[in-house]
Amino acid sequence: MKRKLKFLGTVAVITGFVMLVYLYGLQNGQKGQEFPIIGKAEAAGGKVTDPKGTAPDRYVYYPGTERLAEDEIRMVVCGSGMPAARHGQAATCFLVETGNGDKFLFDIGTGSMANVAGLMIPYDYLDKLFLTHLHTDHMGDIDALWAGGWTAGRTGPLKVWGPSGLTPELGTKYAMDNFLKHANWDYTTRSAMISPIPGMIEVQEFDYKVENQVVYQENGVTIRSWPAIHTGDGPVSYALEYKGMKVVIGGDTFPNTWFLKYAKGADLVIHEAFMMPELFVKLYNQPPQLAWRVCCAFHTSGQAFGKVMSEVKPRHAVAYHFFNEEATRYSLYENIRETYEGPLSMATDRMVFNITKDKIRERMAVMTDDAWAVPSGKRQPGPEKGKPSTFSPYILQGRWDKGVQPVQKKMLDEFMEKYNLQDQDWRKQMMQK
Ligand SMILES: [Zn+2]
Ligand SMILES: [Zn+2]
Repeated sequence: MKRKLKFLGTVAVITGFVMLVYLYGLQNGQKGQEFPIIGKAEAAGGKVTDPKGTAPDRYVYYPGTERLAEDEIRMVVCGSGMPAARHGQAATCFLVETGNGDKFLFDIGTGSMANVAGLMIPYDYLDKLFLTHLHTDHMGDIDALWAGGWTAGRTGPLKVWGPSGLTPELGTKYAMDNFLKHANWDYTTRSAMISPIPGMIEVQEFDYKVENQVVYQENGVTIRSWPAIHTGDGPVSYALEYKGMKVVIGGDTFPNTWFLKYAKGADLVIHEAFMMPELFVKLYNQPPQLAWRVCCAFHTSGQAFGKVMSEVKPRHAVAYHFFNEEATRYSLYENIRETYEGPLSMATDRMVFNITKDKIRERMAVMTDDAWAVPSGKRQPGPEKGKPSTFSPYILQGRWDKGVQPVQKKMLDEFMEKYNLQDQDWRKQMMQK
């Protein structure tokens, strides 16, 4: 009983204190003054001083609602996790948008396309992909970008930039050529039904060894690469330069001297940071002999990440490549803070950074789970005429057109008239069979 009373007393004291803080805040808020005690709560965004007022300065980004300024860069984390899939976090993918309207995907890790699609950007604008290396957790969703964009109106080929390897079979060109071979049935049949050009992949493979080389330069945007050190020759890090600003995408890498040199002083620097080996054993089911190499022999530990950033001194550092959750984020943050005191974000999917010369702002994107494709204004052409059929007569004679065409005739006739498709009426041929 005594304990219960004591508990109730404590609750009353806490409630009283919270009320006081609230009233104090209310009073100060009405006077338009800063709220000194729970200032952090402003993470939820701006002030609403009138009951009909809006709060434009929320801590969220609503895709498709903000025009970038000419001298601004936006970077959206579309994947920040691990090769093992998880609903809450996809594998590596960063979208960088520049004030001139250009958009660049850096990696397209498994599961990341759901986040890219959630931004509801026309697929025509998502045609430039830069691969840091050819691990599948950095390119696994290329199928969804390739075929998803194709079926949802992309008018041109997908363009892919990526590094060479120790041998031609370890390079980006080989990976993409063989992706298309693996998807040959998909490519052949979709080409016949939709349009062949958006199903093509244009590959620009460059030498992974060249330091700080220009791999892309157009429209005021320069993208450079330099070697990264990971599980074998080939991986690279990228820097995107625009209007005197620089965003570095490290990819997967052990700390290296090229990174220290070429990422130095950049505005936003993204580098991997791996959890402690103990967590790989406990949470990721890895044997200890693997866990301590994964974190720290071909990846970068928290302490090492911090050391790199203390040398590079970016305006803002971003750590990625860990499942960001209660069990991991605090210890990794502490690991990093052993060696780095500067501005830092612990990446998770849908995190958004807006970068200008004056300010770097971090927010979270609020996306729909039910995204649709958005038109760009250009229309995809139809399939090429006169190509050999993808069907044998045997399969075609099994179609039940006589049964179903009468019941869908009215609906399709109306559609045909609305879009003037009379000369493309595919039904006549089918009914003759
Ligand atoms: Zn990797
Ligand atoms: Zn990786």
